[in-house]
Amino acid sequence: MRPSKHTSNTRENEVVSVFRFRLEPAKEQEQKLFHTFYLCRRLYNAALEERIKAYQVHGISVHYTDQQNRLPAWKREHPEYKQVHSQVLQDVLQRLDQAFVNFFEKRAKFPKFKNKFMFRSTTYPQARSTYFHENKVFLPKIGWVRMVAHLPFDPASVKMINVKFHDSKWYANLTCATEVGAPITEIQSAVGIDLGLLSLIATSDGDFFENPKWLQKSEKRLKRKQRQLSRKKKGSKNREKAKQKLQRQHDHVANQRKDHLHKVSRSLVDRYDLICMEDLQVKGMMKNHHLAKAIGNASWGKLTTYFEYKTKRVGKRLIKVPPHHTSPICSSGCGTLVKKSLSERTHKCPTCGLEIDRDVNAAINIVHRGLAILQQTG
Ligand SMILES: [Zn+2]
Repeated sequence: MRPSKHTSNTRENEVVSVFRFRLEPAKEQEQKLFHTFYLCRRLYNAALEERIKAYQVHGISVHYTDQQNRLPAWKREHPEYKQVHSQVLQDVLQRLDQAFVNFFEKRAKFPKFKNKFMFRSTTYPQARSTYFHENKVFLPKIGWVRMVAHLPFDPASVKMINVKFHDSKWYANLTCATEVGAPITEIQSAVGIDLGLLSLIATSDGDFFENPKWLQKSEKRLKRKQRQLSRKKKGSKNREKAKQKLQRQHDHVANQRKDHLHKVSRSLVDRYDLICMEDLQVKGMMKNHHLAKAIGNASWGKLTTYFEYKTKRVGKRLIKVPPHHTSPICSSGCGTLVKKSLSERTHKCPTCGLEIDRDVNAAINIVHRGLAILQQTG
């Protein structure tokens, strides 16, 4: 078992991650932990027995709340249970309850009595930020235990601590829930970005982000290899080999492309508080052959996703605007529609005389629309 970190999304704004860290309890603490396992296991088996008997003898079902309500009485009868944190005991009963749920929902067999090898973890379901100090974790009734936190984590985000003995080693699994998205920053700078035909994107401030030359080269090389492959005999060993090689190169270029898109999106999110882009249904646009190529190369969909989460993470904003006529409308505000063919690179307005790169003209219209939406929605 390797120390690991898993991440999954639950609620929209909440990310739950589990950090697994090694624990190094002192000898005495280790004995307390083993004794806790023993007491918890006894409670588990007694609670299971109670459920079975109640059903066999009286035909009634015992539920979690019934058993939880009897915990104080159980503790009075068995004073040694004062050595175990009450939440840990509640968790034991909850585990049993879950075992029954799994059985009734046909996901598991009927719950079994547990021997000492089957019961080697306890859970503290309500952790507090004060449970963590320097390289130690506080386990109620056990004490401050040394913990090797090899990854940074936020103590305030820890919701649950699970202590496990596995393969002669001790582990703490910390379940952390963090809100994604910082509070919204005040918007002091805004940018519109347009999907360029020649460059990757053009901004309303007149900046262009190109697909780097090396990326274009790798893509060309890939195409050449693809042609070579198609000439090889179907089903031959050589073809199979070439196919695998090509797949590896595909992955490599895809990663290079992603890297570049990360860089571009990061630099824009760093610079601006509000990013406006067209709400493009990429699939709809793919029908246009020329545009499809540009979109494919630019990986527009990916870029959109990156902008979405990067802005959210730092409390900035992304607004997607309706894409109609962002290209022909004159961005000076004169309101003229200047039709251009795809090959015309410059927007020349006959009414107000504005002369500007066609993609920058579109980007300016996009940021204007975004700011208008911002004003309406706040
Ligand atoms: Zn004009």
